[in-house]
This record gives sequence, C-alpha cells and structure tokens, in this order.
Amino acid sequence: MKTLRLKPGKERSLQRRHPWVFESAIARGGADAGETVRIESHDGAFLAWAAFSPESKIRARAWSFVETQRIDAAFLASVVARAVAARGLFELQSDGVRLVHGEADGLPGLIVDRYGDTLVAQFLSAGVERWKAVLADALLKATGLSKLYERSDASGREREGLKPVTGWLRGQDEATEIVIREHDWKLSLDIATGHKTGFYLDQRDSRRRFAEMARHRRFRRVLNCFCYTGGFTVAALAGLKAADAVKGASLVSVDSSLPALERARAHLALNGFDAAADGFEAEFLDANVNTVLREFLDQGRSFDAIVLDPPKFAPTVAHAERAARAYKDINRLALKLLEPGGVLLTFSCSGGVGADLFHKIVASAGLDAGVDGYIAERLGAAPDHPMTIEFPEGEYLKGLAVVRKPA
Ligand code: SAH
Repeated sequence: MKTLRLKPGKERSLQRRHPWVFESAIARGGADAGETVRIESHDGAFLAWAAFSPESKIRARAWSFVETQRIDAAFLASVVARAVAARGLFELQSDGVRLVHGEADGLPGLIVDRYGDTLVAQFLSAGVERWKAVLADALLKATGLSKLYERSDASGREREGLKPVTGWLRGQDEATEIVIREHDWKLSLDIATGHKTGFYLDQRDSRRRFAEMARHRRFRRVLNCFCYTGGFTVAALAGLKAADAVKGASLVSVDSSLPALERARAHLALNGFDAAADGFEAEFLDANVNTVLREFLDQGRSFDAIVLDPPKFAPTVAHAERAARAYKDINRLALKLLEPGGVLLTFSCSGGVGADLFHKIVASAGLDAGVDGYIAERLGAAPDHPMTIEFPEGEYLKGLAVVRKPA
C-alpha cells in the first residue's frame, strides 16, 4: 500500500474530516492516478485513505477516515447506496434529483443527477475516474435504473489532468431529450447538450419561492436575467396562474445561449401557456445581460420582479475580487431597474464568494444605486445538493431576496 507522509502541522484539516490534501501539505510519497493511498501525519499516524491525483493541486481526496476500512468495490457501493437512500430524507418535489453531490456524499469528484429514469454522471477526479465501472454498476443497483449517461466534460477535469468524456456508460442509443416535472411545472432538457448534466437542479426551491412570490405579489413586469431554459419564467407564470393574474403580465427572459432561449420559449407551450390566448407578453432576448440592463435603464423601463442568476464568476477565492466587481455591477443596475416594493432575487454560484461577501457586494450595489432594500430572505441550493459540516466549500450557491423599500 502506498503512503503519503504529510508535513508537520498539516494533519489538522484531515483530523477535522475535511477531505482534501493539498500538494503543499505533502512531505513525500506518491502513487498512480486514482490509486488509493494511506495518508499519515509527519510522525506516521494514520489519518485517512484517499485517492491520489498526481496532476491536481488537490493531490489527494479522502475516501475514509477509518483505518480498518478497505477501499474496494463493496465499500464504494455502500457509499453510493447511502447517498441515494439519503435523498429520501428530503422533500424533493421533482423527478429531477441530484443523487450524489461529490464530497458532501463521501464521493469526492462524483456528481450524479437523475432525470426521470435516466442517470447522468460527471467523474471529475482521478479517484472516481479509476473506479468508474464499479461506481456505474453501484449507481444502477442503488436506483434500479438501467440508463447512465456520462457528462465528464466539466472544467474541473482538466485540473485533474483528465480529458473530457461524454456518452452512454450504461445503455446505448437512448433518448437524451427528457422532460422532468418540478413542483407544478414541466421542464425539458437534453442531457447530451445542456449545461452541466443538462439542467440547474440546484435552483429548484428558489424557483418555487419565485412562483409563490408571483402568486402573492401578482407580478406585472418580470425580468429573468441569465434565464437558461426559462425555469424562473415558467415558475412566475405558474404562480400568476394560481392567482388568476396571468392576464396583462409581461415577462422578459435574457440569456446569451440561443438554444437555451429556444427551449425557454418552448417551455411556455409545454406548460399550457399561450401569450395570445392568456393575454400576457413574453420576450426572449438572445443578448448579454450587462448590455440589456443598461439599455433598459436608458429606456426608463422598470420591473416589479427581477432574477439575477449569473454563471460562476469566481471558481476559487483567487478570482473573488474581480468577481465581486462583476456581481456588484449587475446588482447595481438591477436594483435601479426595480420598482419601489419590487423584489430582486440575486444569486452567486461562485465557490470563491462566500455568503458574507455576497451580502456585502449586494449592499454596496444598493448604496451605489441609491436604492434601499430589505433582505427579505436568504436562498440556497436545494437540499439534494447538501452542505456538510466538515466541508464548507459545499456552500457554493447563495441568494438573497431583496425587496426595494417603498418610496
Ligand atoms: N436561472 C437558470 C440558470 C442560469 S445559469 C435556471 O433556473 O435554470 C447561467 C446562464 O447564464 C447560462 O444559461 C448562460 O448561458 C448565461 N450567461 C452567461 N453569461 C451571460 C451573459 N453575459 N449574458 C447573458 N447570459 C449569460
């Protein structure tokens, strides 16, 4: 068994059950990509069993902190089964569910989403890459499903020295176009071409909150920025429908991806909404949000509900400063476009920007905009994207519902 010996003082984070070992913490030792290594402190005490990543700054990721644990197929199958079973603990109102959320589920670098009867997996570390076949079988067994598509084309793989891989891992020539039911609406996706594994499941419960707000506040003018396939737009319409307030509403959805926008438009019909028959307006703009916000300001437009759900501006803390400026800019513009009494749902999915920093960014955007607001709610990823006590990096998605103070 190969061993990694840590430098003095570098054992602390593993002792706190944090699963990462950085290159800089290692005194000596090495192994092949994904191979299991015994990690020990500078004086030889056992700390963890981990998967070795020769190319990554995160040089090893822990499988287990129990010395007697064998890291084998049976062990990995049990961890997979536990992750899948744990989803039963949460109230998930969707048949699109994240079944494995990497480190939080004890499977560093593995992401698995279920869309109906199809699994989609991302293998993003050398460890899960090496155990791919075992993990694939375990996933089918734990779910009773037979279709598993691989979307290992996320940027994290490069950092592990792994090439992008996509395609059917189990099953073949199956449909990649899938419709899921989320809360009171339906959404379609293509697991082969959509972002990530096809869809942003993590925003499920914020979409529900948006629907509830639409129902309660009877939105008239909605602006959905970075709309992807229009989930928040559909949610708003569902909420308005429940309040019998669809008529007269106007909804603008903006994204720079044309295929996503086309799907957003199709999602209206999929959910039985017809602008002409129901008397609402829906615009889908293939544009840069930064430009659109400025144009709308120049045109004197305003909205009573705005969603800002940008892509990851800061993948790590090193990018936080530049990202902070970018977040502040769009939030400043959005707050200016918000009517008194209106609500802004603003998000950051950057691991490098913590909840406190994000709060400060939004506060200083408000100051610059000359807009005073209430933080009505804090929002986060849906519970099938769990955070764990040991792994604070798990908190990547944070959001605020800001209500502009009435004039
Ligand atoms: N709110 C969406 C998820 C948004 S993901 C949902 O509920 O599903 C972020 C989106 O921002 C992606 O669809 C991406 O195409 C888009 N995007 C990235 N940069 C952009 C820009 N500058 N202007 C407009 N859209 C952008």
